[in-house]
Amino acid sequence: MTNNRDDVTIISEKQSFAVNLSPRNSILHSLPNSFDHYTACPDCDLLLHKAEAPAGYSVVCPRCGKTLSRSTVAPISKVLALSIAGLILYLPAMLLPLMTFTSFGFSGSANILESILNFYRNDYYFVSLMVLLSAVVFPLILLTTIFYITCQLQRKRNPSSLRPLFRLHLYLEEWAMIEVYLLGILVTIIKMSGTSNIDYHSGILCFSCLVLITLAISTIVDRDLFWQEIEDQGLGNNAEFPPVQEHLQTPRTAAEKGLIHCHTCHKLSPASLAGTGCPRCGAILHQRKPYSVIRTWALVITSAIFLAPANLLPIMEVDFLGIPDRSTIVDGIIHFFQSGSYFIGLIIFTASILVPVFKIVGLVILLRSTRPDHTHFLVQKAKLYRFIAFIGRWSMLDIFVIALLSVLVDYGFFTSIHTAPAATYFSFVVAATMFAAMTFDPRVIWDTCYPRDYSEDKKQAATLLEKAP
Ligand SMILES: [Zn+2]
Ligand SMILES: [Zn+2]
Repeated sequence: MTNNRDDVTIISEKQSFAVNLSPRNSILHSLPNSFDHYTACPDCDLLLHKAEAPAGYSVVCPRCGKTLSRSTVAPISKVLALSIAGLILYLPAMLLPLMTFTSFGFSGSANILESILNFYRNDYYFVSLMVLLSAVVFPLILLTTIFYITCQLQRKRNPSSLRPLFRLHLYLEEWAMIEVYLLGILVTIIKMSGTSNIDYHSGILCFSCLVLITLAISTIVDRDLFWQEIEDQGLGNNAEFPPVQEHLQTPRTAAEKGLIHCHTCHKLSPASLAGTGCPRCGAILHQRKPYSVIRTWALVITSAIFLAPANLLPIMEVDFLGIPDRSTIVDGIIHFFQSGSYFIGLIIFTASILVPVFKIVGLVILLRSTRPDHTHFLVQKAKLYRFIAFIGRWSMLDIFVIALLSVLVDYGFFTSIHTAPAATYFSFVVAATMFAAMTFDPRVIWDTCYPRDYSEDKKQAATLLEKAP
């Protein structure tokens, strides 16, 4: 489909159409002091009319392709029901045994918590902390906060705690990784199915259902809609804003219009409020994430440095009849390919080598694109940024597999699997690359093209005026 570049695009998988909101006639020349009918794209800062998508549709930024909001029928009651189901399943999922491996008369079983305690007992404190937070603590905080928030919204109540709790929820969404842990369980099962008998217990069913529920919640929770609900029920700051200063005659972006787009709740506020709390969510307002480029460079360089020991040192040790055999990530992948397990080898290769390297290289490309002369392939770079932000968490797969194997394959003197030093470095790489993607502000890439697009805007605006009756 085609549409004017500033129109809001509403698309679904099957069909798509554009809503002509005549942005140049309304946004650009008569923006009122209350900006609730407007929004800006979080990835490119393009100023847009707010549009409500019909059921089954999404609102998409016409410039960079970012999905701005989705439409769901009765999202609050759905999320409330799902969070109750998730909280009921949480303890069984964490405490009940997942499965038992039996081999040569020896057997070992594990639940999620035991797999983490094993890292701690072997002095891998950072790895155990990272797995504990991402697989146990953060999923519980997510379920509890969203249960409390939806409960209060459903009852039309609005305690002041809703704003900080929803901010916490949105921040931790990135760091809760139980779906990656579930993939780790599947990889472990496939890896050991040839050498051990596997008995499945109720824990694995509870954990799988918990993963499905948390995925459903994260799909349904639309941050714009939830912030709007929180604001509508009395927490919004209805104070009159100071007049907005227009920096250019025909501004395209929120920044050019003298507005700030809140990173957390996406509300527009006057640029004069920079450095103060957002009227809607309370997060500190910045025109762009502070020191975004320098911080991201520092984190990318840190992760590149840790990537070397993560791949060169052994990550896992298999003791067979008292003889230790240490293997690196690459050794493990080669072993899978040589034994014919191509699918698992490919998954481990993708998660452990391809994803971290791709993230580092991709972020370097994005960081170099913040220079003024790099104005090409902006849409592709926006897609690259979103892909990097999406894939970051999946690198934890190998760590989760080792967590499970070290508990499940513990047959005393006969054979056992232990964690080796590269696990710590690998966890550093995952954490640093995730922080790097979160610190980077994708709008900085688009800032480089203002002058070029601005002139194009003026040409288009002139054409539109000529065509008008
Ligand atoms: Zn955009
Ligand atoms: Zn905000």
